[in-house]
Amino acid sequence: MIIMKFGGSSVGDSSRIAKVAQIVKSRYLDSPVVVLSALHGVTDNLINTAKSSEESGSRVLRAEEIIKRHHTVLGELGLSNELIAEEVSQLRKEMQELDSGKQLTLQVLDKIMSFGERMSVRIMAGCLSSIGMEAKACDSFDIGLITDSNFGYADILPESYNNIRESIANINGIPVVTGFIGKNKEGEITTMGRGGSDYTTSILGAALGAKEIQIWTNTDGVMTADPKVVSTAKNIRRLSYAEEFELEALGANTLNPRGIKPAMDKNIPVRILNTFNPEHKGTLISNCSRLKSRVASITYKNDINVLSISAQKTASEGEFIERVLGLFAKNNIPVNILSIENGNLALTVDEKYDVSAIVKELGKSAKVTMKRNMAQVSLVGNKLGMMPGISETLSESLNRIRVEMIPQPTSEINRSVMVKEAHMVKAVRMLHNTFFGK
Ligand code: ASP
Ligand code: MG
Repeated sequence: MIIMKFGGSSVGDSSRIAKVAQIVKSRYLDSPVVVLSALHGVTDNLINTAKSSEESGSRVLRAEEIIKRHHTVLGELGLSNELIAEEVSQLRKEMQELDSGKQLTLQVLDKIMSFGERMSVRIMAGCLSSIGMEAKACDSFDIGLITDSNFGYADILPESYNNIRESIANINGIPVVTGFIGKNKEGEITTMGRGGSDYTTSILGAALGAKEIQIWTNTDGVMTADPKVVSTAKNIRRLSYAEEFELEALGANTLNPRGIKPAMDKNIPVRILNTFNPEHKGTLISNCSRLKSRVASITYKNDINVLSISAQKTASEGEFIERVLGLFAKNNIPVNILSIENGNLALTVDEKYDVSAIVKELGKSAKVTMKRNMAQVSLVGNKLGMMPGISETLSESLNRIRVEMIPQPTSEINRSVMVKEAHMVKAVRMLHNTFFGK
């Protein structure tokens, strides 16, 4: 058995859906279980519609556009609107209730977001059936995926694994399962965070002991750099789970980091493949225990503020750091430590968080400076720290760019520099030239 997940861009319109159906058909002998995202952009549309606050009736009208898009896709595939009639009527009802003043809680928003995946799986199962492949659309909660009640970022409950195994065994034909969503024990719909379909996929792979988990996307696997930044970026044949995890943490956007652990725990290989170039072998992510020391890829993260905080001499370094981190934690703002040296603490915060109150508070007892619009550019690769002269090569490659700061490495598989956002593209290209050639 294999799990095949197709993200939003792979199911953007009727021709793509038809293409996906052919890809699934071509892997039929591997007994595929399919996991799907919503049609491209639909989750955003649903959120924006639910949140819109124009004159009464507006949400219902906007929802009609989303419904029309799905009906158009069904029509183009020669399928009946009946396939999603139940979901459409529930979606209309939810939007009417919001228009009549019902409060948009996280719980209500999760229910509304769920329609994206609930409609896409029905369309795909219909399309597969139309080309002679028996298929069954499944809402993940109907095959036993149970989560906690953390609406918007729910997590799986352990009993789901057995439930899923039993349910899938009783399905005839190809199961086409909703990614991203679940239900709590009370039967209320939850979601597992944006991009959460990868998590569902990994959970299914682990539950079913799949031979391989395939994530079908729009690049030839994981690349040596973002192809939008480096046009000569190449495919990476193999990555370890740890490398992939690090890549995602440092800005890559191929796989939801939550999607790695369930597969890794069961040692199930994850292959990243290209829906638009299905013959390409993509990238195989596995435990790669014999991998040599190397640079695998160059990543970047924009929109970063760097805070430097130097403490008064009175507090011990430990107390000082605890106090600073405590303050961020209390305000639910995630931070990454870049370095701690002689009572100076440097950390990064995503620009989207307002830290002015914290800076003011810290300013009472410490000197605080903030650099805005920074980018973190990173090398990621197995046992990178053991490559002779890696730090020198890194600095020399960037000799024409001002490096604002060099964070202390957090592990043997990454080395980073902080540069101004305006220099990010140049920095990534220079490093790519050094490590992968032009
Ligand atoms: N449809 C959801 C999103 O757009 C989940 C996913 O695609 O993984 O975030
Ligand atoms: Mg995704």
